[in-house]
Amino acid sequence: MTECYADPGDPEPAPAAPSAPLAAGEPRADCVLCGKPTEYPATQPGLTMCPVCEWQEAQRTACSG
Ligand SMILES: [Zn+2]
Repeated sequence: MTECYADPGDPEPAPAAPSAPLAAGEPRADCVLCGKPTEYPATQPGLTMCPVCEWQEAQRTACSG
């Protein structure tokens, strides 16, 4: 049995939206993987990833193990 499968009838999940909206002119944190600006403020604690890298990480971890 495997939990790693793709349902062709299911649309891919959209990247999660940031919990707090960015204020105008607020600097954004850079993606730790690709260096592109993320949707998170620079004050966001922890590792910040852009929606693309977040999605890719989610796919990777979902099928690991
Ligand atoms: Zn990225």
